[in-house]
Parts: sequence; structure tokens; C-alpha cells
Amino acid sequence: MVNDHQKIKNKFSIWWIRKDLRLNCNFTLEKALQNSEKIIPIFICDNKLNTDININSKSYAFFYYGLKELEKSIEKYSGKLIITNSDIHSITKYIQTKFEIKSLYVQNDIEDNFINDIKQLKNHINVELVNNNLVDAQTLLNNSNKPFKVFSRFAKKFKENYKSCDFAENTVFKFAKTEIQNDNLPIPKNTFGEFTPGENEANKRFQNFKKNKIFTYHLDRDYLYKDSTSKLSPYLKYGMISVRKIYSECIKLMNQSKGVEKWIDEILWREFYIYISIHFPDSIKYEFQEKYRKFPWEKNSNYLTKWQEGETGYPIIDACMKQLKETGWMHNRGRMIVASFLTKDLFIDWREGENWFMKQLIDGDTASNIGGWQWTAGVGVDAAPYFRIFNPVLQSKKYDPKAKFITKWLPKLKNIPVKYIHEPWLSENKIYIDKLIDHQISKNKTLQNFKSFNNHNE
Ligand SMILES: Cc1cc2nc3c(=O)[nH]c(=O)nc-3n(C[C@H](O)[C@H](O)[C@H](O)COP(=O)(O)OP(=O)(O)OC[C@H]3O[C@@H](n4cnc5c(N)ncnc54)[C@H](O)[C@@H]3O)c2cc1C
Repeated sequence: MVNDHQKIKNKFSIWWIRKDLRLNCNFTLEKALQNSEKIIPIFICDNKLNTDININSKSYAFFYYGLKELEKSIEKYSGKLIITNSDIHSITKYIQTKFEIKSLYVQNDIEDNFINDIKQLKNHINVELVNNNLVDAQTLLNNSNKPFKVFSRFAKKFKENYKSCDFAENTVFKFAKTEIQNDNLPIPKNTFGEFTPGENEANKRFQNFKKNKIFTYHLDRDYLYKDSTSKLSPYLKYGMISVRKIYSECIKLMNQSKGVEKWIDEILWREFYIYISIHFPDSIKYEFQEKYRKFPWEKNSNYLTKWQEGETGYPIIDACMKQLKETGWMHNRGRMIVASFLTKDLFIDWREGENWFMKQLIDGDTASNIGGWQWTAGVGVDAAPYFRIFNPVLQSKKYDPKAKFITKWLPKLKNIPVKYIHEPWLSENKIYIDKLIDHQISKNKTLQNFKSFNNHNE
């Protein structure tokens, strides 16, 4: 016979929170709640999740205050979020000595450490891995049952099959309160700037974007001086908003504007890179296109530092890099221009840029960042061809014609005629630092390098 005490004990599950810092529309939490009476939420401070203040202080601050908001939300439902420096095995084992735990629920992930943790956890607890992404990588396959390698085909098949998409809604939250002492995380300064962390803000931003910007997104999205994109990337990175909810709400607006379609495609690019990293885990460390794994990138610490600090002599590059350093965010067009410049004008390995971005970006995300860098360098999945080399001056004139964006980040150029801001070397007076390289000369060298490499490696 089971006594009352045991009955209660039998109904607990652990929700291991990782990149899903939200209560609402969270499949992992929803599934845990469906199968258990009460939930014990745990967050493990693991520097692989950018939870180390020393690795990326802005991203850490964004994460930290987002976690604190989640902690408060859990407390409103009479629960306690366990925040610990301990590892997942020790803490789970300890909880198992106090409560009879049914299962541990966690959002699935691709990281090596996570995969190892799960293997070990399965020795002492039932683990339920939940897919909180839009795409189920194991079932979205081409006609030969193989993973897609071309974005347009991947997106077409997904959209054909998913006219709507499930997401957890109207959940009644029931949390358990444990006596476990929390560890104190370093308290950061509010260095997240305009990116107020948390689930509430993420939802407000999404609703605002949907109401005011999505319908003209296809027209405005590339202009560096406009505030025309959603700026949801940090929220998506830490799971402060559900991508399924986003998709479900936007798909209903699909026929109203090309802007909606374009924005959904961008959301699907994020999914595509996650999908690729699941099917081709090697592409996280090496070039997706195997032939480029031996490409002779050059080492030049002077060039690299000047690029990082925004001192290349090309105002458009320098403005983007200063924006990154100051805010932790950069416009997608900017990311492509500076990534092209590093790899195809300065000949530096894309990994150096990828690494710098991860240290600076508030939205730094392994799959999207590596995807974006390999795409621009021309070595990734469905990448830009090697001969697509962004001309920084043309990009500057086209996407920041009045130099509003440039002068925001390089205010010293404010009173200079616009044509010289795009090309300061044309001015008779010295108005800006010398350019590190000449784009035309670099472009020719890159084309030559790739051509001769390809000839020897086809
Ligand atoms: C070299 C390089 C590095 C990048 N590194 C990252 C990164 O670390 N983290 C990151 O989230 N994005 C990265 N991106 C993609 C993209 O630049 C950002 O997602 C976007 O600028 C974020 O701004 P937003 O939220 O206003 O985007 P919106 O234009 O509003 O797009 C909505 C969402 O779609 C997704 N998205 C948009 N464009 C892309 C794209 N090209 N690839 C993948 N997802 C996309 C993002 O989640 C974004 O929040 C990178 C792109 C490049 C070229």
C-alpha cells in the first residue's frame, strides 16, 4: 500500500533549464507538467552557455537579468528556481535523495558536453529530451530520406508541411519549493543597453515588430541606418521567446505582405543552421565544404586587431565594429560586410572572426554564427560563392547613403561631405585614418587564391 507521503513524492519531475528562459509556450515545461504534479526547476551555471561574466560580459548581463526575471516568475507560482554551480549529475543525485523523481525534462541540444551529460544522466534518471525548435531535424528530409543541404528546398518543404505549428499555451504552472541553497552568481552591471532582458520584453518586442515593421521588412531590412528588424536575436538565443509561437502567429499573416514571408525565411535560416549542426556536427569545427578544410588563410595579428577595434580605414567597417563593441549587436548587413572584409580583404581565417563575434555578441549563437561566417567566407553549406566579395564602398553607399549610420558610430566624420565619408581617401585633406589595404588589390588576390586552390583540390 502506498501512503500519502509516497504519493506526493512520486509526482515530481526536474525541469533542467538551459536555453529556454521562459515559462510560456515552453514545450519542455509543458511536457514535464503533463506528466508530473510538480516541477523542480534547475539552472546549472555552465560557461558553455555564456554564463561566464569573463567570456562575454554583455551577453552574461543579458542572461543574468533574464534568469532573475524567470526566478521571480517561478516564485509567483510558489516555486523555487535552483541556481547552482554544481554539475547536473551531483545536483540531480542529491535531489533524488530528497524526492522521488519521475523524470528529468530538458530541451535537446547539440553541444558535446550536453550529449555527454545526457548519456551519464540516463544511468540514474529517466531523461526526456524535448525539441523546442520549429524543425524536427530527424523527420524533415529530402525525397531520398537525406538531410537537405540547400536552404530554399529545406524551407519550401517545411512550409508545405507546416501551415501551423503547435506550441504550449495556457499552461497552469505548478512548482515545488526545495530547501537547496542557491549559489551566488557574479552580479553584472546593466551592460545590455537597449536589450532589456526577459520574457515580457521579448513578447512586447515581437508584438511591436508584428504590428509596425513586419509588413515593410522586405523593403527596409538591409538599410543599416534604419531600425527595421526585430532585434529578437538575443531573446531567441536564450529562449526568452518561443520560435514556435513566432512562426504560428506570423504564418497567419503570410498572404498580407512579402515582408512576412521574408521574415519567416530569416527565422528559418536560424532553424537551417541548427538543422545542419545536428546532421553534420563536424561543420561546427570545420568548413562544411570539406575541400576548404586546408584553405591557406593568412595570419596577421596587426590586421586582426585593427579589424576588431574598428580601425581599418574603411568607415563602414569601422562603424559596424564599433557598434558591435559598444552594443553587443550588429545589423545582419553589417555582419556580412565585416565578415567578407576579414576573410576576403584581409585573408584571415573565418574562425578568428567567429571567435571575436562570440566574445562580443549579445546574441552569439554557435550554429548561426558559424553558419554566417562560413556562408560569407564561401566555405559553408549553401554558401555565397567564393567570388562574391562585398565591396565595402558600394555597400556603404547603397545601405547607408547619407552616412547616418556611419556618423553615429564615428561622430568625428559628422561634418564631412558624404562622398568623402564613404571614401575618405578621395579627400585632399586627411580626414580619416589610412586604409589598411586597397579593396581592389585584395579582391584580385582572393580570387586568385581561391582559383588556384580550387584547381588543385577539385
Ligand atoms: C557573420 C555572421 C554572423 C552571425 N552570427 C549570429 C549569431 O551569433 N547569432 C544570431 O542569432 N545570428 C547571427 N547571424 C545572423 C543575423 O545577422 C542575426 O540573426 C540578425 O542580424 C539578428 O537581428 P534581428 O533579430 O533584428 O534579425 P531579424 O532580421 O529580425 O530576423 C529575425 C530572426 O531570424 C534569425 N535570423 C535572421 N537572419 C539570420 C541569418 N542570416 N542566419 C541565421 N538566423 C537569422 C535570427 O534569429 C533573428 O533574430 C550572423 C550573421 C552573419 C552574416
